[in-house]
Amino acid sequence: MLFAMATEVTVGDGQRANFWHDRWLLGQCLKIIAPALFKISARKNRTVHEALQEETWLSDLSRGLTDQMLPELLRLAALLDTVQLHDGQDDSIAWRFTESHEYTARSAYLLQFEGSVPTENYNLIWRAWAPEKCRFFIWTAALGRILTADVLLRHGWENNYFCTLCERNLETMAHLFWDCPWSKQVWGKITHLTNMPALQPQSW
Ligand SMILES: [Zn+2]
Repeated sequence: MLFAMATEVTVGDGQRANFWHDRWLLGQCLKIIAPALFKISARKNRTVHEALQEETWLSDLSRGLTDQMLPELLRLAALLDTVQLHDGQDDSIAWRFTESHEYTARSAYLLQFEGSVPTENYNLIWRAWAPEKCRFFIWTAALGRILTADVLLRHGWENNYFCTLCERNLETMAHLFWDCPWSKQVWGKITHLTNMPALQPQSW
C-alpha cells in the first residue's frame, strides 16, 4: 500500500504495472480516478497490459454497472484512449519522493508527513469534499489537461475559439479560471461569502 502510493509508474508494455493500484496514468492510480468502477470490477489485480487487451477492463465491469457510473466510465474510457503501450519496453517504477527518483530512507521517513508536503496538491484535490466530477475536473486542470480552445487549436481540432462566458477572448485555461470577467465575478462572490480575501485572483 505504502509502496503503491510512493511510486510512480511509467508504462512501457504494461506487463508489470498494476491497472488499478499503481500510479501509472498521469501520475494517479485508477482506483482513485474511478472509485465506483474499481469497487465493482470483478478483477482488481490485472496488469495494465491484460486490462487493455481487448478492453478486458470493460468486461470486468459487466456486473454491477449502473447508470450513475456512466460519467465515470466515459471519463475513464477517454483517458485510456490516449494510452499507448510499447511492446518490448519495460514499465519503469520510480520512487516519487527524491529528485533522483531513487529510494532513500530519508524520503521514506518524509513520506509519513506526506499530507503536509505542499507539492502534494493532487492528493489534496482527491480528498476534497466535492462531487467526484468536480474533483476530476480540477485534477485535470492542475495537470494542464483541459481541452480549452487554445489546446484544440494547437492540435488543429475543431473549436469555438472564444470563451463561452464572455465571448470576447480566446478560451485558455488561465482565461477560464481567473482572467475572464465572469470568472472574476464568481471569485468575488465566493470571496465575499467566505470572507476569505485570499480567494481573490488578484492576490494569487
Ligand atoms: Zn471569458
